[in-house]
Amino acid sequence: MSLRPYIVGNWKMNGTRAMLSEARAIDRAAQRYMKVEVAVAPPFTLIHAVHREAEQIAVGAQDCHADPDGAHTGDISATMAADAGAKFVILGHSERRQDHGESNELVRSKAEAALEAGLKVILCCGEPEEKRDEGKAEEFVLTQLKLSLPDAMEDVVERLTIAYEPIWAIGTGRTPTLDDIAAMHGAIRAFLVERFGEEDGGQIRILYGGSVKPENAREILGVANVGGALVGGASLTADSFMNIALAA
Ligand code: PEP
Repeated sequence: MSLRPYIVGNWKMNGTRAMLSEARAIDRAAQRYMKVEVAVAPPFTLIHAVHREAEQIAVGAQDCHADPDGAHTGDISATMAADAGAKFVILGHSERRQDHGESNELVRSKAEAALEAGLKVILCCGEPEEKRDEGKAEEFVLTQLKLSLPDAMEDVVERLTIAYEPIWAIGTGRTPTLDDIAAMHGAIRAFLVERFGEEDGGQIRILYGGSVKPENAREILGVANVGGALVGGASLTADSFMNIALAA
């Protein structure tokens, strides 16, 4: 089995109902690009509305709480996100790790809760610039993965996606060299094979994220072990987002 390239838009804290027209346009275009799996993660407030509009694309959440319910003012559980129509959740994004102090251990608890609630997980990892400068990027990223992944996982190929997003490349217009992307994705692949075995670990999709645009998508998506892209800024308009999907 070889999974289709996966192009996921992370709208972050952007979008009111006025953005539904973009979601509709993304969905319509996705119906023409069946060789690519397209998904968007709007803010929580739009999950249900996008879900109702979408015929082709999957809708996801950008985070969830580790508990199924309880006294956590302002939080959303995985069950609630699934109830609103989410099929997956992005976890461990560097903006969550930085802005909300999320540790690897917390990310793992959230991943367990998400899987329990029937959501697929896109698990993010990525190094800060100083780790890359020190030559410790791989060590940093593999440690993040080791500590953030749940112990037991079923249907791991279908339910788990890894997103490698170097922090210094997010929203900056800077990207690693293609060789650096290949080296990191190769290291993540080797880790997944060791963890889940040749068959499953060899198939889990590893997305690249960080300043992916229509202009650089084709070359990045052509790198070995890059199974798609997690796209922030360029996912906010259907035009640029679907040009990235087209490049896949
Ligand atoms: C992201 O935050 O997941 C991301 C990849 O952002 P951008 O594409 O804007 O760099």
